[in-house]
Amino acid sequence: MTEHFDVLILGAGPAGLAAAETLAHAGRTVGLVDEQADPGGQIGRLAIRRQPGRVFQRTLRRLQANDRITYFRGQRVVDCDPCPALMIESGLGSARLTGGSLILAPGARELVLPFPGWTLPGVLGAAGLQALAKSGWPVRGRRVVLAGSGPLLLASARTLKQEGAHLLAIVEQASRREIVRFLAELPAWPAKAMQTLTFARALARTPYTTDAWIAEALGEERLEAVRIVRHGQSRVVPCDFLGTSLGLIPNVEAAARLSCALNGDLHPSVCVNAYQETSRPGIYAAGEITGIGGVEQARLEGAIAGYALAGDLQRARALAPRRAYWARFGACVSRHFAIRDPLRRLAGPETILCRCEDVTLGEIDAAAGCGSLKLLTRLAMGPCQGRICLAALAEVRPGYGTVTPSGTTRPPLFPARLETLAGQASEEPSS
Ligand SMILES: Cc1cc2nc3c(=O)[nH]c(=O)nc-3n(C[C@H](O)[C@H](O)[C@H](O)COP(=O)(O)OP(=O)(O)OC[C@H]3O[C@@H](n4cnc5c(N)ncnc54)[C@H](O)[C@@H]3O)c2cc1C
Repeated sequence: MTEHFDVLILGAGPAGLAAAETLAHAGRTVGLVDEQADPGGQIGRLAIRRQPGRVFQRTLRRLQANDRITYFRGQRVVDCDPCPALMIESGLGSARLTGGSLILAPGARELVLPFPGWTLPGVLGAAGLQALAKSGWPVRGRRVVLAGSGPLLLASARTLKQEGAHLLAIVEQASRREIVRFLAELPAWPAKAMQTLTFARALARTPYTTDAWIAEALGEERLEAVRIVRHGQSRVVPCDFLGTSLGLIPNVEAAARLSCALNGDLHPSVCVNAYQETSRPGIYAAGEITGIGGVEQARLEGAIAGYALAGDLQRARALAPRRAYWARFGACVSRHFAIRDPLRRLAGPETILCRCEDVTLGEIDAAAGCGSLKLLTRLAMGPCQGRICLAALAEVRPGYGTVTPSGTTRPPLFPARLETLAGQASEEPSS
């Protein structure tokens, strides 16, 4: 079946929620879709369950009480077309939603670069480990090492500590000099400076090492230890879990499918104008999909898109200076926590790069230049559809042309049932 709304929104994170509420307040009907059971996106979703009464809890109540917003929770967008329309699917069935306009707000994912042993059970994304711990996964008393780069490591560390994990080390690849420079710039964003201070206090007893990275995860059946390298010296630290993350990269797959212009970065983001409109008229993008800027920027971009689509361009323009302020923070983080070259050289020929299809870096190197890497090696043919391995390969072998040009992405965006792909919407999705 097909349902129609004034505006469709993909993603109920801070950006999608801000857009939905702005539009509903202006009298527009909104179809808001998110694959997760709760709204709030990566940062707010778990807070809803854990902290009743907090801001996202109130948001959930507001969403449910607003009869202009139809909230399709637990429904994944598996395809989209520029008319605009979203094909959504859940365990209950599938449906096609159409809209006068579309806002893409699918957020970002973690960037993890391969190193020997990174596919062992017990090695996870740092923010993924944080999310698991928040949702009740038992980490109490478990020995954890966090490694990678950027402020997200500290946020993950604090959560894990709160949940009772035995945090052995935070291993930051950026140099001490860059960290000092970052801290010197931080007072320009007092809220972030305060947050960093809170993290520093909470983690005062946790060893924090700069200029260091994980050279190897060790273990037979699962992770038993990590080898940490710093200035050419290495030490082995026994542990139960390793959380690793080199920051976030935008989820641009739906935008690429709709032929929206992307910028030319290694991990591209969607190009938008001052009102968050993409190169495709009627299709807007807000939040981390337009570049990694944090929750404040995501909220502002959602509101700007909402005001613009409601025709209130004056209000949309009024938010531009605050958006620019938070964009400068995002740029500051990227500058000081840029990935260092040795991390791109950790994987050897035997290291698995595509964990869905067990393809090693050596196999990819052997096939390079002989034709399609996908066809020759099955790289990126698994359930993640290249979201993890192609992003890693772009860093490790930038010359292999792994960035998919906008407009060439083929359906589906995620593995989907044949019935859905055939457009045979079965049951009405629950809202
Ligand atoms: C794993 C992780 C942990 C993080 N932890 C922190 C933290 O502790 N502190 C902090 O300050 N920032 C954190 N961040 C960053 C923060 O989440 C973002 O800055 C902010 O949430 C961006 O908002 P957004 O609306 O752009 O995207 P998101 O919050 O990511 O929301 C996007 C939403 O789109 C949905 N979605 C995506 N694709 C589809 C699809 N195909 N079908 C249906 N739904 C879809 C997702 O389920 C998600 O709910 C984290 C980010 C990640 C990825």
